[in-house]
Amino acid sequence: MSTTLLEVVTPERMLLSEDVNMIIIRTGGGELGILPRHTALAATVKPGVIQVRFPDGEDFIHTTGGFLQVLPDKITILADAAELASQIDLERAERAKTRAEQRLNQRDSIDVARAEMALQRALNRIETAQRAHQPGTRVTNR
Ligand code: ATP
Repeated sequence: MSTTLLEVVTPERMLLSEDVNMIIIRTGGGELGILPRHTALAATVKPGVIQVRFPDGEDFIHTTGGFLQVLPDKITILADAAELASQIDLERAERAKTRAEQRLNQRDSIDVARAEMALQRALNRIETAQRAHQPGTRVTNR
């Protein structure tokens, strides 16, 4: 099966630079499955899970959102923050979830939109980590 280069970059690091068979990603224009030699496009990336198929298995990347550029021989994702499923600290995400829920329960004198986004990030991280452990998923070591 043919491959294309996937680079995932955050302000802090190059998370990934590897050949992949396909990615499935949520963009401003809807969910896209991107294969090698896809026509060029640019789109915003919605917060959530990116599914990545490598020649030796699949993996999941959590992102808080960003930008996607697709060229026939390269996919680039510029993300505000991103982690491979194996890099997610589940206890930290659970703590962030509890913190956000407590803030939302107070309601008065808090920034509700900010707390809701923090809660969504925590839930997306928990979902990403859990998807990597589903039966039948062959997560590769990287
Ligand atoms: P927290 O309140 O736990 O810091 P957050 O949602 O505010 O969570 P972000 O601002 O989205 O965190 O990310 C800040 C940095 O911390 C990024 O580099 C991100 O990849 C990393 N990060 C955040 N939460 C986790 C986690 N649960 N596991 C691994 N890395 C994380």
